[in-house]
Formats: sequence, C-alpha cells, structure tokens
Amino acid sequence: MSVNTMKAAVLDKPLDMNVKDVPEPEIKEDEVLIKVYCIGICGSDVHYYEHGKIGRYEVKEPLILGHEMAGEVVTVGKKVNNLHKGDRVAVEPGVTCGRCEYCKEGRYNLCPDVVFMATPPVDGAWAEYVAVRSDFVFPLPDEMSYETGALLEPFSVGMHAMNRGKIKPSDRLLITGLGPIGLLAIQSAQLYGVKEIYATDVVPYRLELAKKLGVTEAINPAEESLSERLNTLTNDKGITASIETSGNSQAVNDVLTVTKRGGRIVLVGLPAVPEVGIDVTHVVDSEYDVYGLFRYVNTYDPAIQGLKDQQIDIEQVITDRFSLDQIGRAVEKASNEKDTSIKIMIYPNGE
Ligand SMILES: [Zn+2]
Ligand SMILES: [Zn+2]
Repeated sequence: MSVNTMKAAVLDKPLDMNVKDVPEPEIKEDEVLIKVYCIGICGSDVHYYEHGKIGRYEVKEPLILGHEMAGEVVTVGKKVNNLHKGDRVAVEPGVTCGRCEYCKEGRYNLCPDVVFMATPPVDGAWAEYVAVRSDFVFPLPDEMSYETGALLEPFSVGMHAMNRGKIKPSDRLLITGLGPIGLLAIQSAQLYGVKEIYATDVVPYRLELAKKLGVTEAINPAEESLSERLNTLTNDKGITASIETSGNSQAVNDVLTVTKRGGRIVLVGLPAVPEVGIDVTHVVDSEYDVYGLFRYVNTYDPAIQGLKDQQIDIEQVITDRFSLDQIGRAVEKASNEKDTSIKIMIYPNGE
C-alpha cells in the first residue's frame, strides 16, 4: 500500500528546522483529517526551536512543532458524527483521556494523560494535514476567519485567566506583560465586559498595540511609578484583580503590590528562574486570592460564540504572515524580534 506524503516543518535539532516530505497522518475511527490553513507560532514553539526543551519535555527525535490552528475537515472517521467533510474548524490541541478524576470533574487541562500537540514526543501541525480526535474540533461560523480560529488557542489562555480570577465587568483590572497572551487577555477581559483595563509593559510598540485594542491606559513601569499612576487613574480606589502574563519578577511583585486588599491575582507567565522573592506578609495581610493557571479548559465554544456576538477582532495581534516554505525565516523572526513580532501566522496550504 502506498502512503501519501505531505510537507511538514520538522525540527531536527535546536536551530535546525527543515521542510520535508513526511507521511500524511492516517486517521483513527474517532478522528478527522484536517487540511491546515492557518497556524500560529507560539512562544513554546520558539523555545523548543532555540533550546530543544522546556522543563522535563525534551526534543529527542525530529519533531513537528505548532499547535494553534484552523483548517478544513477533509476526511471523517467512521465513528465521527459531529463533523462533516468541508467543515471549517478550529482545533483544541490537547486531547485528554476523559477518564481520570481531573477529566471527570471538568478540569481536563490537568489530565496527566493529555496528548498535547508539539510537546515532545507528540508532533504538532506545521504541516499540510493533521489528524485530531473529533471532540477537540470546533466548527467555525461562516464569518469567522481561519486566523481567528487559530488564535482561539492563545485567546483561550486569556479566557481561562478570566475564569480563574472570577473576573467581572465591574473589576478594575491590571494586565501585566503585553506579548500575545497579555494582549489577548485584554480582549478576553473585553469579552467579559470589563470596562476598566490597565496594561503594562516596557516595550513601546506593545503599549501602543494595547492602546489600539482599547485599554483604559497603557503604562510603562520603567518610566513612571506604577502604583502612583494607578492610584490617580482609579481615584485611589485601586486595582481589584490582576493577570500577570510576563513572568518578569518585577511584574510579579508589582501585581502583589498594586492589587488592593481582598483582590484576585492570576499568575500566567513563567519566570526565567522558578523562584521569585515575594513579600508573603503582604500577601497574607491583604487576603489575596492567588491563582495559578495551566492552559485552559472548556473555552472554545464560549470563545467562538462570544467573539461572534460581540464582534471583537482578535486578528489585530497578528503582525507577520509566512508560507510553510518560509518557516525558517518566520521562526528566526519570532526568536529575534520578540518586541515587535507579536503573533506570526504560517499558511501551510497557501493564503
Ligand atoms: Zn500556544
Ligand atoms: Zn484525564
């Protein structure tokens, strides 16, 4: 039997990415084959490209990266009844076991047996085709672009941060760090009806982008006192909830300082070194609720519905577009121009 081949970008070893012909994935009965039209470059992809590992996950065999995608269903497995050939879809890239305690209690993002794309040894989808279990595939409304479909993955992190932090419209919300996650968290907050959103970063381009997205104020804490500025802006009422996405130790301490007593803090960003000094007395005395966050859970359906209903344009975070053949340039750009290349999109089957 002859095997069909497809083009895929394969990370052979750190800093060595090659577009090759590889076997097209064969679908199982409960899977669909998706023709990938748009797929993002994520910080984790760049990290694997640069270092070959993240924590305990190490690239030991050649690996296809990429996990933020949308495309068209081209083949449907025998047991699939929720999708049809020709459906335009977004993919949630972590397929869980459905049986463990976490899965059963609705926190499947913590499933120990999750199979997550582009996390060694599981291949991702910087490729022409990918096979995905059908319950992690979500049809897109006609008017929703493949770009928005692909962005649902990082957007989901923002939405999960809102859920973790119990964010409500009346919050005075601070978002620190304006990479893709921070910027999409701003738009998640808007989806949740938050009106007062303050954002911080030290990169002017990113602050400008946050302003374009409609934040109340974008502040550079390297240039002025964040707490004084926030006091002025909130009429001394203070910040009721914070989402920290940068992983910068100063930013972690900033949210632990400027959030008012009784406030909620969601820590999303991973610091370069795991331990960051914090004033525990202040955390205790302030009776903060501090939440960690891992990926997201049950966000795709509400994200699709919410973005459609409220017509929030999350494509504004896309700064660059490349074909699959240009993947080397694209990843180098993502690696070297982090300040100004926010979200880079790859088009494995042409634009
Ligand atoms: Zn991602
Ligand atoms: Zn599970």
